[in-house]
Amino acid sequence: MGRRLGQHFLARQSILERIAEAACPAGTDVVVEIGPGRGALTTHLLARAARVIAIEIDPVLVHYLRAEFRDEPRLTLLEADVLKTDFGQWGRVAVAGNLPYYITSPILERTLALGERLIQAVFLVQKEVADRLVAKPGTRAYGFLSVQTQLLSAPELLFTVPADAFRPRPKVDSAVVRLIPRSDAAVPDRAAFLKFASRCFQHKRKTLRNNLLPFYDRARLDAIPTTKKRAEQLSIPELLELHGQLG
Ligand code: SAM
Repeated sequence: MGRRLGQHFLARQSILERIAEAACPAGTDVVVEIGPGRGALTTHLLARAARVIAIEIDPVLVHYLRAEFRDEPRLTLLEADVLKTDFGQWGRVAVAGNLPYYITSPILERTLALGERLIQAVFLVQKEVADRLVAKPGTRAYGFLSVQTQLLSAPELLFTVPADAFRPRPKVDSAVVRLIPRSDAAVPDRAAFLKFASRCFQHKRKTLRNNLLPFYDRARLDAIPTTKKRAEQLSIPELLELHGQLG
């Protein structure tokens, strides 16, 4: 089986049901599922949503799914790379999936970029990634991924999933997270701020001053006391303020 594609299939029905329940709040119309695999989660999503659009890259699995769900008109199956699919094309959607871990970050980025077209996202990710998504400033797990995610959404760690719930068993534990888009996510120039934030976190042990030195005048940096801190000590509003001060 292609481990290259992050193929670890969830085998425990109770966990699949809990994910579907979180992924489809009452009245959910369309759910986009990323990486349906052999359809384990898809079945549970179909029981709760009016329509499921599932995006799977592996042609062998797509072939299997087409046969397995041939009598299910509410399932639309796309043989495609999720990173090349605009999953906002179906209007306002909920997004769900037991993610292929090797592309977790770009999937999160694309999902959050949906903005108002995103109702919510429920993802099974590596536990270590889940910890980073929800991390607060001043903790070990807090970093660029936390800032990027929390700028645009309110992430919540719902529950952990042990490695032995999968076939084949992955090396790490996993966790289910829910991302609810923030309605107050209006940052004037989001792309510029995120670029700035990624520079701030470039070397986590370095001070902001030292991380930002290649990009700003030394005297300007030294005139702002906050730059003596490390990025991991700053909340998102504080990072936004620093970005504003440096112009
Ligand atoms: N949902 C299934 C389950 O829970 O049993 C399978 C989850 S498995 C962790 C990830 C799935 O994503 C695999 O079926 C894999 O083939 C698929 N996948 C990997 N890369 C992909 C990509 N770029 N676009 C779409 N699907 C992808």
